[in-house]
Amino acid sequence: MTRVQDRNASAWLLPPRPGTNHELRDRMRTFADAEEVDLVVVGCGAGGATLTQRLARAGWHVVAIDAGPFWDPQEDWVSDEAGSHHLYWTEPRVIGGDDPVPLGSNNSGRGVGGSMVHYAGYTPRFHPSDFTTASVDGVGADWPLRYEELRPYYADIEAELPVAGEHWPWGDPHGYPHRPHPVSGNGELFLRGAEACGITAKVGPVAIANGRFGHRPHCIYRGFCLQGCKVDAKASPLITHVPDAIDRGAEIRAESMVTRVEVDDRTGRATGVHYVRHGRAGFQRARAVAVAGYSIETPRLLLVSTSRRFPDGLCNDHDQVGRYLMVQGAPQTAGRFDQEVRMWKAPPPEVSTEQFYETDPSKDYARGFSIQTVSPLPITWAEHMSAQGHWGETLRAYMSDYVHWACLGALCEFLPRPENRVTLADETDGNGMPVAHFAYSQCDNDRKLLDAAQSVMEEILAGAGADETATIRRYAHLVGGARMAADAEHGVVDGDCRTFAVPNLFVTDGSVLPTQGSANPALTIMALAARTADRLTSGAVVP
Ligand SMILES: Cc1cc2nc3c(=O)[nH]c(=O)nc-3n(C[C@H](O)[C@H](O)[C@H](O)COP(=O)(O)OP(=O)(O)OC[C@H]3O[C@@H](n4cnc5c(N)ncnc54)[C@H](O)[C@@H]3O)c2cc1C
Ligand code: SF4
Repeated sequence: MTRVQDRNASAWLLPPRPGTNHELRDRMRTFADAEEVDLVVVGCGAGGATLTQRLARAGWHVVAIDAGPFWDPQEDWVSDEAGSHHLYWTEPRVIGGDDPVPLGSNNSGRGVGGSMVHYAGYTPRFHPSDFTTASVDGVGADWPLRYEELRPYYADIEAELPVAGEHWPWGDPHGYPHRPHPVSGNGELFLRGAEACGITAKVGPVAIANGRFGHRPHCIYRGFCLQGCKVDAKASPLITHVPDAIDRGAEIRAESMVTRVEVDDRTGRATGVHYVRHGRAGFQRARAVAVAGYSIETPRLLLVSTSRRFPDGLCNDHDQVGRYLMVQGAPQTAGRFDQEVRMWKAPPPEVSTEQFYETDPSKDYARGFSIQTVSPLPITWAEHMSAQGHWGETLRAYMSDYVHWACLGALCEFLPRPENRVTLADETDGNGMPVAHFAYSQCDNDRKLLDAAQSVMEEILAGAGADETATIRRYAHLVGGARMAADAEHGVVDGDCRTFAVPNLFVTDGSVLPTQGSANPALTIMALAARTADRLTSGAVVP
């Protein structure tokens, strides 16, 4: 493995004090719409930014187009829950199904860096079993590639973020480049409760610098990771991949909403993307196109991009686009302790267990869940307690008691189902594009996992000495919607993230995941994009 700085100098291209390298952005190369670039990427988040950086390094002419702003953390972000709503994708979307998933702050970001700008920072790997759940567990789907093919890319991205944590005993056991962070009251109680219950819990894995990394400073443990880390200690593509991409000649075109992918009916090849920037329509010509707009916006864009060849949506010959969209069931259980916990005084991601990740044949459900520390700030804490039915005086009493509570969150592996999907609604947005309709319903296995995860969290908190617990059931992490598969009848892209229908069109974001495990997805999304980049630059895949 090469030194990180030799393959990705992003952390060294930031200013020595937290801030934006304006000189780098000012000298960014730009491309004219009429110039046929090698690749145009839609969305500059986890998948899009990683692909852009890799290909720019290899000398490709790349334009990454993002609908949101090119953030300046010092100017645009605040250490305040209410003041951070502009980080979320809040454009209209319609939800439905038996168990509708609320969209917005908990689900997707907008702007250069994507959702990782306000993600928590957990970066676990998927387990090898996640790639073969259909053949081994009889549920979900098998991927067209195996864990081993992703392993080197996991290690590369872990070094580039970088990830801190204890040696990881689950899945494919591995270590991390940075040592584990010290833990706060919340993390200590999780470790103590887990030990009392005979459960193994470990510190990490988090993409938060533990010590100086390039010009990025050490975490200062103030706990505003979900509001955008102004310190630059928490990784997001805005600071981990975009600076190097620009330095190597990529253009990041912010505040530009892509409205359609154009395909030449005659050749069957993508020719570029239409976008709207500050009210002006443009068309960026490109030899190849990659869509990486997140699990809702990617299928939406494909479905909107109809043509004579694709009357039902781009790459939708087999009615696969938008299907198998997944969320993880994410119940959060809080426990009250006599002593003060002050759970907000640390990054929310600290300690996790993956002991319940795999299928346990003694249970009446398949697959499993992970458990992690979460540390709701006051507004989210008010949601947690009001969900118990508390209001008025009692809610005020619980808010005043905030200092005494610790909180754990589970990620349950909800199963992929074809009817959980994105379609187009009748409503349109400001650009005249039909908005996404997202229907979601749980299955019995999902509900059993929720119950099991909640009771383990209650046991852990009781084991640590909690005298009261309260649970709120939530969702986290949308993935799927343009999944990879062995053939066109079962998915939208192949194992290289290339669409089956259009040879020079790729999907390189979380939409391609066929299963989700009970791991947080960002690291896997980046590793898959890095692998696709390798396949393209090595010539193994020719667009
Ligand atoms: C509150 C929260 C906490 C999370 N915590 C974790 C965590 O701890 N660990 C973890 O692994 N994951 C976490 N996640 C999830 C993780 O951030 C996402 O799964 C991941 O960033 C998705 O990557 P992506 O490439 O699919 O999309 P994104 O990173 O969301 O990037 C998509 C980009 O595309 C742009 N875009 C969309 N449509 C268009 C269009 N038509 N034209 C132009 N641009 C467009 C958007 O502006 C966005 O910048 C969290 C997410 C949230 C919201
Ligand atoms: S706790 Fe650390 S990683 Fe989180 S926002 Fe503060 S400095 Fe950044």
